[in-house]
Amino acid sequence: MNLLTTYRKRRWIRREADIARTEPDTMARHAQTEEVEPGSLQTVTLRDHIGGPWWALGLFGPIVSVDIGTHCPRCGQPRGLPQWRGRVQTWTNPCGHIDRPAALIDEASELLLGARVDAQIQRIHNRNNLIAARSAAQTRANRAARAKGYTHA
Ligand SMILES: [Zn+2]
Repeated sequence: MNLLTTYRKRRWIRREADIARTEPDTMARHAQTEEVEPGSLQTVTLRDHIGGPWWALGLFGPIVSVDIGTHCPRCGQPRGLPQWRGRVQTWTNPCGHIDRPAALIDEASELLLGARVDAQIQRIHNRNNLIAARSAAQTRANRAARAKGYTHA
C-alpha cells in the first residue's frame, strides 16, 4: 500500500469511528465486549499527535482515552502494564513490539467499527425474529380461521 492509500484509509477509519461514537447501538455493543470477552479490552489515555511526531509539532494534540486490546495485535502476547507519565499512559510490551499512539488510536477506531458491524448484525437478527414471529402468528391465525371455517361448513 502506498503512502497516500494508507493516509486515506486511516483518515476514513478515524472519521467513521467518530460517527460510530455517536451511535447508541454501536456504543452499547462496544460496552458489552467486556461481558462477551472478559479482559479483552483496556482503556488507556494517550496524546493524539496531530501534526505527526514530536519534532513536527506532534507534541501538541488533544489527550484522548481510547479502548484498545489487552494483547499485542502483532504477536498476540499480553501488553505491558500502562503507567502514568504526566497526563498520558505509557508501557513497555514484554514482546518487544512498540505501540505508537497513532497506531493505538487506529486500533481503537477499528474496534469501534467492529462493534458497529456487530450491532448491525444484531439489528438484522432482531428484525428477522420479528418477521418470523409475525409470520408464525399469522399462520396460527390462518389455521384457526380455517378450522373455524371447516366446523361451520
Ligand atoms: Zn508483540
